[in-house]
Amino acid sequence: MLGLMQDRPLLISSLVEHAATFHPDTEIVSRLPEGTVHRTNWRGIRDRAKQVAKALGALGVRPGDRVGTLAWNSHRHLELYYGVSGMGAVLHTVNPRLFPEQIDYIINHAEDSVLMFDAMFAPLVEKLAPKLQSVKAFVAMTDRAHMPAANLPNLLCFEDIVNAQDAAGYAWPEFDERSASSLCYTSGTTGNPKGVLYSHRSTVLHSLMELAPDTFGISSTETLLLVVPMFHANGWGTPYAAAMVGAKMVFPGPHLDGHSVYTLMRDEKVTFSQGVPTVWMLLFQYLDAHPELDARALGIKRIGIGGAALSRAMLERFERDFGAEVVQGWGMTETSPIGAINTLLDKHKRMPGEDQLRIKLKQGRGVWGVDLKIIDDEGRVQPWDGKAFGHLYVRGPWIASGYYRGEGGSPLDGEGYFRTGDIATIDSDGFLQLVDRAKDVIKSGGEWISSIDVENAAMGCPGVAEACIIGVSHPTWQERPLLLIVGRPGQEVTREDVLEFLGKRIAKWWLPDEVLFVPELPHTATGKLLKMKLREQYRDYVLPTAVAAT
Ligand code: ADP
Repeated sequence: MLGLMQDRPLLISSLVEHAATFHPDTEIVSRLPEGTVHRTNWRGIRDRAKQVAKALGALGVRPGDRVGTLAWNSHRHLELYYGVSGMGAVLHTVNPRLFPEQIDYIINHAEDSVLMFDAMFAPLVEKLAPKLQSVKAFVAMTDRAHMPAANLPNLLCFEDIVNAQDAAGYAWPEFDERSASSLCYTSGTTGNPKGVLYSHRSTVLHSLMELAPDTFGISSTETLLLVVPMFHANGWGTPYAAAMVGAKMVFPGPHLDGHSVYTLMRDEKVTFSQGVPTVWMLLFQYLDAHPELDARALGIKRIGIGGAALSRAMLERFERDFGAEVVQGWGMTETSPIGAINTLLDKHKRMPGEDQLRIKLKQGRGVWGVDLKIIDDEGRVQPWDGKAFGHLYVRGPWIASGYYRGEGGSPLDGEGYFRTGDIATIDSDGFLQLVDRAKDVIKSGGEWISSIDVENAAMGCPGVAEACIIGVSHPTWQERPLLLIVGRPGQEVTREDVLEFLGKRIAKWWLPDEVLFVPELPHTATGKLLKMKLREQYRDYVLPTAVAAT
């Protein structure tokens, strides 16, 4: 027997409609690429999203067509989030930090019919244009006064095409909630990038989960600074979740330097901000250089961190200097992106500081909607005891079932679980702790060394700004760890200091065989350490212990 409740489709347009109806005057603030600050509100975003939908229709875009964006976070990008998906087309956010050959591969693979881009990317788009087979119109996301002088076929001005339309009388179409809404390619550190195709249903369900107090706990009283780019897994779903409760949103544009982020936090009275650890390092560097600034006066309540591991040093600094709570999450482009979020259980709140800290540094606890399992190399399910580790698999209504156009074959196992490529432990409370990405694991004498643990410990050593550990071949142990360090400007730290510091914090056999100081470390387009490149660079590196062993 079926229930008798209304079968209303879960559509993305309903989110912006809700925000515009119940929170019309709540502000949406953007720092534009030119540096000026632009203000609108949820009513304005909804109206302009409708104008976008009509403008796209006028350009010949039909439901299901892909519309690409090469853009930083801004109100215009938000209007596209709602205008494109709302009309039934698919918003394809492209990461402008990728190599140009990856970008043209992605746009051609997605067959984008229109490409929207921030004016600052005009030189890049000009270079790409001859290779883009499907793009019929190029739209610079700016006004007439800031139009780039680009040599592009069918170049249009965003403000012109939007202002030519009237929102009045436009009703969002209704369609199957399983329809595709947005498309995002994974960075593809190996092989070609693969497209993750989200649906309206998956996006709305993910937003609901993101609001829960046990996860990010976003409410209408919040002011959210979205530092994570809107091309990185739908800006972690926050542009949708924020509309669901009508929270104020602040967009930093391309300005992710410490000064810009700090001033936006201060001027807009930000309460919650999300980003990857690398951008927070930039903020810390800025504050290091400006000891007269009091981060606590910002009044920021929570910082959301994901995409790469949260280090103890970063957690402690946010708590101590900002008086902020840190909420770590684990996820992937393929998981919309949230798979687990770290908020403490009641019993943890009464734990001694050090024990509580150990829990806080775990990647997160399972949320409703995501089934987790860990299995060993032979496919045996591992216990949830916080010690046994295995390959992490996830399943749920906002987890990818495959990649766009079937690339890479099926990523699912026989039970419908998605293979994440991460190695993790899960404890008896369901807290997940990442050991490594399977491809980054260091195997020493048949045992695994967790690079995440060693890096986190090293980041706590005074004078260390960033740490990265990789496996280097060794005649006796197969692989041994090599630690690469970027020092803090103006602070002295030696190899011996680092080894002594680590010696007190990690197992002896995990201690790196060598520590090298480097001016900088390479990162992927989404801010993760690019270990593949480092492994290549240090492939023939001879560890001092290897010399001794031969
Ligand atoms: P990319 O396209 O950069 O690979 P993803 O966001 O899909 O982007 O990357 C997902 C991966 O990031 C995960 O599989 C995991 O290895 C890593 N990751 C995500 N969150 C965390 C975290 N909190 N701690 C450690 N690693 C994380």
